Amino acid sequence: MIDDTDLVHLRRCVELAREALEDGDEPFGSVLVDAGGEVRFEDRNRVKGGDETRHPEFEIARWSATHLTAAERAASTVYTSGEHCPMCSAAHGWTGLGRIVYAVSSSQLGEWLAEWGVGSSPVASLPITSVVPGAQVEGPVSELEGEMKSLHRRRFRS
Ligand code: ZN
Repeated sequence: MIDDTDLVHLRRCVELAREALEDGDEPFGSVLVDAGGEVRFEDRNRVKGGDETRHPEFEIARWSATHLTAAERAASTVYTSGEHCPMCSAAHGWTGLGRIVYAVSSSQLGEWLAEWGVGSSPVASLPITSVVPGAQVEGPVSELEGEMKSLHRRRFRS
């Protein structure tokens, strides 16, 4: 179940996504919250330099591997504006991170891209649980759908 605390963290992810878009990157943002509810790390997409692996969920997995114990990782929650791609799902699974809450799903994004005539990505769109069968995943969150759709639309209008 998504509660008010989840929404606060998801709204921060949307803010980070907006910041990324305004800086020339893609509109994705993510936040890592520990078992005590403290935000430990946050990042946003940084692919404009040419490294297409600079996704925030991947950065979170790497950061957590260095800074958290296995138990801390398992007890943490990763909030993200858009459902993890397969690369980030795998990184999440390999590092043993806990619950995931996303604002919009990969399939929603795929539908929007098709609607706008944007070509498909070189990496398959898969639900997180197809990559990490044991993952605890919640989303999408309808309150944030409109805002995320408009951010993605802006990305392709320019
Ligand atoms: Zn990714």
